[in-house]
Amino acid sequence: MLQPGPKDASTKAIVLDPVKCIHCGRCVEVCQNIQKVYALEFVSRGFESRIAPAGDISLSDSPCIKCGQCSAHCPVGALVEFSEIPKVWDALGKPEVYPIVQIAPAVRVAIGEAFGLPAGTIVTKKLYALFRRLGFKAVFDTNFGADLTIMEEGSELINRISTGKGAMPLITSCCPAWVDFLEKYYPDLIEHFSSAKSPHEMVGALAKTYYAEKMKIDPASMFVVSVMPCTAKKYEVSRTEDMSSSGYQDVDVSITTRELVRMIKSSGIQFLDLEDEEADNILGSYTGAGTIFGATGGVMEAAIRTAYFLLTGKNLEKIDVDITRGLKGVKTGEIDVNGKKIRIAVAHGTGNVRAVMDELRAAKKAGKPMPYDFIEVMACEGGCIAGGGQPYQVTNAIRRKRTEGIYADDKKSKLRLSHENPDVALLYKDFLDKPLSPKAHKLLHNHYKARPLYYK
Ligand code: SF4
Ligand code: SF4
Repeated sequence: MLQPGPKDASTKAIVLDPVKCIHCGRCVEVCQNIQKVYALEFVSRGFESRIAPAGDISLSDSPCIKCGQCSAHCPVGALVEFSEIPKVWDALGKPEVYPIVQIAPAVRVAIGEAFGLPAGTIVTKKLYALFRRLGFKAVFDTNFGADLTIMEEGSELINRISTGKGAMPLITSCCPAWVDFLEKYYPDLIEHFSSAKSPHEMVGALAKTYYAEKMKIDPASMFVVSVMPCTAKKYEVSRTEDMSSSGYQDVDVSITTRELVRMIKSSGIQFLDLEDEEADNILGSYTGAGTIFGATGGVMEAAIRTAYFLLTGKNLEKIDVDITRGLKGVKTGEIDVNGKKIRIAVAHGTGNVRAVMDELRAAKKAGKPMPYDFIEVMACEGGCIAGGGQPYQVTNAIRRKRTEGIYADDKKSKLRLSHENPDVALLYKDFLDKPLSPKAHKLLHNHYKARPLYYK
């Protein structure tokens, strides 16, 4: 019989316990054939056959991008997220700590499945109520950060188009697994990345500056928890060289949807019986454009809605941008903005992304015109609604249901355009000045660097 051996927790995003492995190979399939990362492989054969990082080194020394798709498909818990639950309980139990929480767009549409609700049911306001019962002192929403990301990234796109300065196409950068993938596999394309941080890091930085100033709270006492659909956000939080623009670590801990489910169940709170509540001002309001960040194509669609306004001074007549929607691995098309054609590509699942990046690389090497102006990439198939930290057993049918839930929430929102979020406008008026201002750059933007595929 195999004896308990050392676990591999080196990535601080996922944990591999080889002894639990039953050799089903689902993680190898998803890592090699869906994600095309090749961080995991079978080693040895027969009785001692097991899963291990490629080359049998630690995962942090492998090409792993921390997407967590292996953990979402492992049936026996041999691959799980790196748990930060003890740190959250600890912060909630200390009176001197000011705990703050935020939820990502995709969490609200999937977490209900763990409590018997159909896939795609939105439970945003129950989550707000839950967080207050758990002891959080401020309840924010990452959707606010998504609206803000669009203001910054949309302005960056318009700037690059209108001034001719900055590499085109612009590529979205709000998925940390994708950032890790590009830094490792396509470092020659880093200049195409948007410098905008991901939405939850923006909210974290603003909680410890803007909110702290307004509420007269010592930011050193704040503990920001992000509830994300994602294990890669744990890795992103650890990139402290870029993620401490407030003067402190902007987000202290990121937990997955599954970790929040475990916390709710162990708290004894009857989640489904909670009455709806609202998020807190001034980082809690959002538009439908912020919500659709959770699905593949959503960032692109939200950006197009605002870029159109920034370029023309008018809102789109038809707000829904159909060509960005659906589960096709790579979606391409053109958007007409006042006679100017913006050529777009949307790719999800890193296995699908390589074709688009190879196209860019080839055009660049040959000195040919680039085929696109704006590209959205999400590392997980379907986008964050099917992230590596979401409830188990996702299928394409469930991806569709969660996506429908997200778009239904957008459709029923009074405001569906990021530039119409009144609290985002207030933030610029009172604190940041305008998109891409020096202060916005300091707090909301990021740097990237080439990372070797194998660290040893
Ligand atoms: S987290 Fe993603 S890249 Fe890393 S081993 Fe798992 S599937 Fe592969
Ligand atoms: S697509 Fe979303 S859930 Fe998946 S790794 Fe990227 S940010 Fe995380």
